[in-house]
Amino acid sequence: MRVAVIGLGRMGWPIAGHLAGGEHGHEVKVFDISAEATAAWAGEHAGEAAASVADAVSGADVIVSSLPADKEMRVVVDEALAHVAEGAIWIDHSTISASGARQFADELADRRAHFLDAPVSGGVDGARNGSLTVMVGGDEDAFARIESSMAAYAGRVTHMGPSGAGQITKMTNQICVVGVAQALAEGLDFAINAGLDPERVVHVMTQGSSTSWEMENRAAQMIAGEYDFGFSTTLMRKDVGLVLDEASAMNVSLPVTAMVAQFLADVHALGGADWDWCSLMERQRRLSAPDG
Ligand code: NAD
Repeated sequence: MRVAVIGLGRMGWPIAGHLAGGEHGHEVKVFDISAEATAAWAGEHAGEAAASVADAVSGADVIVSSLPADKEMRVVVDEALAHVAEGAIWIDHSTISASGARQFADELADRRAHFLDAPVSGGVDGARNGSLTVMVGGDEDAFARIESSMAAYAGRVTHMGPSGAGQITKMTNQICVVGVAQALAEGLDFAINAGLDPERVVHVMTQGSSTSWEMENRAAQMIAGEYDFGFSTTLMRKDVGLVLDEASAMNVSLPVTAMVAQFLADVHALGGADWDWCSLMERQRRLSAPDG
């Protein structure tokens, strides 16, 4: 199968690698707006560097994108549209708005091609070790044709409904995770201020009712104050912004999500735009010990 991969960032790079490597071994052509990244990827993998979006998608059976946000997707779809083959399936792993996903699906349908919104959960580690969770919206037959190819980098791939349903599922995931992370920051800070050994506290709690993915995967870094990795505050602010826009359009009340959105803005103001967003802990710490 000929696969074009657009966007070779923290997620797209390893996803393209899985598609090109191992038993999957598709014919992969990659493009990133950074010519350096495109050349570096092609230098390290059994795949080809494309000179442009148009070059990458021409003749591709499948197009995979992993771009920051709606704005970049708009640019790439505009460049790609005239070159997408009839019957091609576009799998977009970017986290974007549901309305954007529906719009792209309509535009691809006009070209007799398919667009599946397929945001992911599992982070950079999940992309590297091929265990991402993928939530897919769009045409069910197109999904059935392409589902198995995502096994190259995903542990769980689920069709959620029509176009936009993948993005709405990802928003639900983010709603459920932001409050948990803030609660973890508060709990750890409370234990530290009370003089407990926070690592022992976490050891106990991961066996109890308060355990979570955040606790198992982020508590150690939050205790150590190490945020130079992972999913940035900027990307999480973008995701939470998408959630709040969607909730406002639906008249759904999300008070905790709205509050954590403010806290993430505080982290940004502290200089944490590029820190992993578990740096909510840094904000919490500084508030508890302003002189510390
Ligand atoms: P990233 O910023 O590391 O990568 C994005 C890539 O897109 C960059 O390499 C950039 O050069 C490229 N790009 C930007 N504009 C382009 C254009 N016009 N043409 C071609 N390439 C272009 O971001 P990421 O962390 O890989 O995230 C990608 C998407 O996945 C985002 O929507 C993010 O919200 C989502 N996501 C990320 C994570 C994570 O842990 N990083 C987890 C889940 C979902």
